Amino acid sequence: MAGEPQSDCLFCKIVSGDIPATIVRESETTVAFRDINPQAPTHVLVIPKVHYPDAASLAAAEPKIAADVLTEAGAVAADEKIDSTGYRVIFNTGSGAGQTVFHAHAHVLGGRGLQWPPG
Ligand code: 5GP
Ligand code: ZN
Repeated sequence: MAGEPQSDCLFCKIVSGDIPATIVRESETTVAFRDINPQAPTHVLVIPKVHYPDAASLAAAEPKIAADVLTEAGAVAADEKIDSTGYRVIFNTGSGAGQTVFHAHAHVLGGRGLQWPPG
């Protein structure tokens, strides 16, 4: 069924606690944890607890939860005190754009200067 946990999904295993992660925030619908390979002083991933392969399919099926991901991304930025200096929220979508984990996730990046446009 849409949104159900997938046995082969790394981020579903982080949601269930089967794989450990450094969790910085949790809500009824989302989990936020530090990226294992940080690309900036703050690099946190915000994921929905439900499984959808990317942000667009999450938003189409569960718009409230997609909004929760954005709200939590903003809360992470405030917690990490990067909201005043500027930060980026990124949804890599598709392998051509660098997506490697096919469970929707927002990258929250900040704490250093960020180039525009990104590579
Ligand atoms: P994507 O490339 O799909 O946009 O982002 C996936 C992110 O997940 C990458 O930045 C990668 O470093 C991170 N990642 C991969 N495996 C793990 C893991 O086991 N734990 C954590 N915390 N992050 C992971
Ligand atoms: Zn998943």
